[in-house]
Amino acid sequence: MSVSRRAGRLFLMLAVSWFLNSTAKPQTSAPTAKKLKIYISVDMEGVAGVVTADQLGPTGFEYERFRQFMTNETLAAVRAAKESGATEIAVSDSHGNGENLLIEEFPKDVHIIRSWPRHGSMMAGVDASFDAALFIGYHASTTNPRGVRAHTFSSAHFTRVALNGNAVTEGEFNAAFAGALGVPVIFASGDDAAVEELKSKLGSIETAETKKSLSFHSAETLTPEASCERIAAGVKSALERLHDFKPYTVRTPVTLEISFKNYTPAQMLSYLRSVQRVDSHTIRFVGKDMAEVSDFVDMVDGYSPDLAP
Ligand SMILES: [Zn+2]
Repeated sequence: MSVSRRAGRLFLMLAVSWFLNSTAKPQTSAPTAKKLKIYISVDMEGVAGVVTADQLGPTGFEYERFRQFMTNETLAAVRAAKESGATEIAVSDSHGNGENLLIEEFPKDVHIIRSWPRHGSMMAGVDASFDAALFIGYHASTTNPRGVRAHTFSSAHFTRVALNGNAVTEGEFNAAFAGALGVPVIFASGDDAAVEELKSKLGSIETAETKKSLSFHSAETLTPEASCERIAAGVKSALERLHDFKPYTVRTPVTLEISFKNYTPAQMLSYLRSVQRVDSHTIRFVGKDMAEVSDFVDMVDGYSPDLAP
């Protein structure tokens, strides 16, 4: 092959290549990373070692240490989610005053939802853009005879919360809230009673049992470190089979029933024309969707004429 013919062929190849490049669609320089948004709702009663009020609030002598353990269990989930490809993470501090998590310990790209009141309550900030939700530190419901500090939303005031006639746990209620937005719950940690109850409602989600409930105020518990390891492993297993999970949904409109420990709340709430008195201690409210029902529960649980500012 002569030099001139080679040069001619080279020119032709360059011309063809220029033509193809100039007419082809612009190429993205690098493959864009797949988005994976994870929402984490964190309660405290299900954290390893928690057994009484001594761990659960600012007046308890062990609270400061247990805020750290609660933070560590959440961080275990955050790190496991990131190692499994999570690109965005929102964490809601959903226990007590909503100011428990030590926010300075989180990676700087994590968003944290704090304090009350807030639309969506324990699921505030979740929307249809999230791929999955995780529950950390969850506990059994008030209608469960077992479970450390078992209650549903208000341990002081509610004896039953039901959706469409079925008593629910906070976890099931929150799963229905997320499910209405198309977001599946894929993992939960808590004591054996909480985990068993949630699985019976939500199906085969991944779980981490942090302790065995021996009574309302006693448990045989993992150490904080062992609990974190179990949570990380469970979150990774859940994200490995993300496509297995379906959003948990309830029929709409949603019929909510709340039973109170005391008589007067049911009587007073029935003054509202949107509320029906079902029996001495129980009221019924029908909401068009989970968002409306969630706001109603928050109002009933949180309103007091003493509220200020
Ligand atoms: Zn709770």
